[in-house]
Parts: sequence; structure tokens; C-alpha cells
Amino acid sequence: MSDQAERRQRLYRSEAIVLKRRDYGEADRLLTVFTPTHGKLVLLGKGVRKTQSRKAGHVELFTLSTLLIAKARTWDLVTQAEMIEPYLPLRESLLRTSYAYYVTELLDGFTQEQDAHPAMWRLLRETLARLAACKEETLALAARFYDLHLLALAGYQPQLFTCVACQAALEPVTNYFSIVDGGVLCPKHGEGRIGAETLPLPLFKALRFIQTREWEQVAQLNLSAGLHAELERLLHGYIVYQLERNVRSAAFLRTIREQVQSVTRDA
Ligand SMILES: [Zn+2]
Repeated sequence: MSDQAERRQRLYRSEAIVLKRRDYGEADRLLTVFTPTHGKLVLLGKGVRKTQSRKAGHVELFTLSTLLIAKARTWDLVTQAEMIEPYLPLRESLLRTSYAYYVTELLDGFTQEQDAHPAMWRLLRETLARLAACKEETLALAARFYDLHLLALAGYQPQLFTCVACQAALEPVTNYFSIVDGGVLCPKHGEGRIGAETLPLPLFKALRFIQTREWEQVAQLNLSAGLHAELERLLHGYIVYQLERNVRSAAFLRTIREQVQSVTRDA
């Protein structure tokens, strides 16, 4: 193979959004990015902390860029970066910045490296664009829309239309919500159940609406501050529970893998 062909084979190009970054060595940075076709990747940006670096501005947090990446042993290297969309308001307004952090951290928590998920890529991209452009009073709704749609794409969609215990269609009454059971319970199965809380009808309706409608419709919702606070509390409890379960299972898998490796080594 010619040198040039060999080099081409070790390079790949991808769109990427920077989820997270941390300093590495004197002038480098480790970048956690999400891509449409390779999922989440951890890449090494060499020299990007130097002020004269040509790559620096193109690999800022939350920016959408095209990267040229070289395969390497530990972390693949960012060799070129060209910004497509900076989503500037996400770095200029503290409020928007905090929402962008929330969105990227959640995505990081619910994904594994090298696991392509084009629908999640679309959701991330659309959500960042929304958070950069929407009115301030719509930011919270955009975050709740993201919560419910990310949960669905990650395989943790809360069940909101049939009772998690008896599968009967849920009626528009005061039902119950159970984080541990993964969704809503009818009054018969929810009452007195450990871990189930009452789910007032307006909250129930808001959850179902946000889970099933397009953003354009959800953006028109006019929830009271109190109802939104309840919605946020309920979803956060649910997300934290799912993420902790995830983290535990990841740690468990690591232990198993280490045991398998040590057995193979000893054999
Ligand atoms: Zn039931």
C-alpha cells in the first residue's frame, strides 16, 4: 500500500458536538464528543490550549464541527477541526450555558462509547439549536422535551398510557407514578403501593403531551410555574434512578470483564 493510501485509511471525517473536555498534559485536551455515525468518542486535541492553535475555537464546548480524526492507539487524534455552528448564545448567557451543560451531561450519562445512535444525534443537535435560539421562558420546556425524548431513545421511556401493573389503559383521573416500576399505575394498583406517589391529572396530561407531540406543539404549552416544578422534580427523580442503575451495571460489567481477563491470563 502506498504511504498516502495508508494515511487515508487511518483518517476519518465526522461531524461532532463537544460534550465535555478536560485538560491533558501541558497544552492538550481530551474531548468527549458525540458523532452521528460513531456515537460517543473520546479524542485527544493536541495543542488546543495554546492561544495560537488553529483548532482551538473549533472545539469549544457545545460547538458543532467537522473533525478530521486520525486513528491512534489510546485516543484518536483530532487533526483538523472546522466549526459548522458555534451556538454562541450557549456560551454567552449563563442561563443557557447551564441548560447546555445539563443536556450534554445527560447524553454522556446515557450513552456508551462507540455506540452509534443517529436519532440521539438529531435530538442533541436540535436541542442545542433550540436552547440557543428559543425565548428564555421556553428553555425549561425544551429541557423537559429533551428529558422525555432522550429517555425513549435510550430505552428507558416511562410508561404513561397503560398501567405498569395490569396493562389496562389509564383513565384521565388521579393515577399514581412509580419510579421503580417505570411509569404510571392505575388507582387500583397505585394506592398504597410502596414507592408510588399520586400523579395529579394536570401533571399526567403534561407528561403524555410532551412525550408524544412534536416540539412545535410542546413549545406552545403554557404550564404554571408550580406544575413545571412538579414535572421537573418527577422527571429528575426518574432520570437519576435510571442513571444510577446504569452506572451500577457498568461497574458490575467492568468487574466481570476484569475477572474474565485475569482467568484468561492465568490459564
Ligand atoms: Zn392497574
